[in-house]
Amino acid sequence: MSDRPVVTRIAPSPTGMMHIGTARTALFNWLYARHTGGKFLMRIEDTDRERSTEAAVQVIFDGLKWLGLEADEPPVFQFARVDRHREVAQELLARGAAYKDFMSAEELEAEREKARAEGRVVRSPWRDATPNDAPARPFVVRLKSPQEGETLVDDQVKGQVRFQNKDLDDLILLRTDGTPTYNLAVVVDDHDMGVTHVIRGDDHLNNAARQTLIYQGMGWDVPVWAHLPLIHGPDGAKLSKRHGAQAVSEFDDMGYLPEAMRNYLAKLGWGHGDDEIFSDEQAIAWFDIKDVVGAPARLDWAKLNHLNNHYIRQADVERLTTLTANVHRGRDWKLREADLPVLARTIPLVRDGAKTMLELADATVFVLKQRPLELPEKTLGMLNDETRGRLSRLRDRVAGQDWTVSALEQAIRSFAEAEGVGIGKFGPALRGVLSGGSPAPDLAGTLVALGKDESLGRLDDALSRSA
Ligand code: GLU
Repeated sequence: MSDRPVVTRIAPSPTGMMHIGTARTALFNWLYARHTGGKFLMRIEDTDRERSTEAAVQVIFDGLKWLGLEADEPPVFQFARVDRHREVAQELLARGAAYKDFMSAEELEAEREKARAEGRVVRSPWRDATPNDAPARPFVVRLKSPQEGETLVDDQVKGQVRFQNKDLDDLILLRTDGTPTYNLAVVVDDHDMGVTHVIRGDDHLNNAARQTLIYQGMGWDVPVWAHLPLIHGPDGAKLSKRHGAQAVSEFDDMGYLPEAMRNYLAKLGWGHGDDEIFSDEQAIAWFDIKDVVGAPARLDWAKLNHLNNHYIRQADVERLTTLTANVHRGRDWKLREADLPVLARTIPLVRDGAKTMLELADATVFVLKQRPLELPEKTLGMLNDETRGRLSRLRDRVAGQDWTVSALEQAIRSFAEAEGVGIGKFGPALRGVLSGGSPAPDLAGTLVALGKDESLGRLDDALSRSA
């Protein structure tokens, strides 16, 4: 297997959401393919016709696209390959690696009871029947599994996992209506797609044993297995709704950046020394499936927030402007064209404190407000004659300044000195007047974010209010 170029794949079932565990599986497959110069493919496992809607498939495409983990080839749809799955079942029959089982429902039930009483798995009497015994009634096709010895799943993450063959019943490949079962479809598709490495959640570890037997029945190369531990919540329990989020789209909605998610998800079960923050290029260079740890990974919101803040501070401002504008629009804020450059000017001044895009949007609300601003009670209470007089003099002082943070900082400082008061005497009132009580950066930053006209306008509005 090792001489073939690596082909990995993600094989999600479209269930209506894309679980964060699927995203991590996609990332590890993607990293391993990139690391080895191989290919990363995608298959939509849409054989459950009730759950598989076009919308559910779209959710997966959107999730992978958002994460920046798109496949190298168009997706394969499993349901469309039913004929091929049947064909392989026929071939297994022809090779004597499978058989037709004509047990009726009652017979099967009786055998089940018996097997349970005898502490063994179900065995069909048709396993060793000759083809001319075949009656004219419905049948299932079963794999003729070895009954002795063991099946080894040599897993890159879990190590050597041994399954006693006597504990594996003869897996159904085709049901009485001729539809292929899940394990058959997965093996046929992975084989036909040339998949060399099956990297997936460890809830599929038992399937790996059964799938190995199908590969062997066909005389096909068994892929390299790597079963990843599940992602748990911060409390160690299986990740569920109460942990805050499970779906990729929820992380997007909560304002996490895809590059932060990639960095974070890479760290869930894998790592490179103590490195917390790394680029895609570094992850690709360092990633090896052998280094994935077998213990469940726990979601850690504080770490995710820390990474997200890092990437928000690094991101291109134009991109952050678009994303911030989208958050505001999503909150029904009617943005005007002219707001976009204002947002772009504000973002560098406020992003250091933002852990998510929602927080970044919160931090930019003050610039979007329209004059005249509604002022909070607290600010109104500060606007006595003394403060008004001072703000009016400050207005005249700053009006002639360069509108930069350093010039304005300097101007405010020397104004306070000239007035013989601390900035605390007028700063809070100024802040309230400029921000309307919304979060805002320091005074000079707030003035720069708003721009000169808007700043002076907001000051004038407040000063012309009747006391
Ligand atoms: N469709 C399976 C799932 O969503 C994945 C199967 C596989 O990766 O082999 O859990």
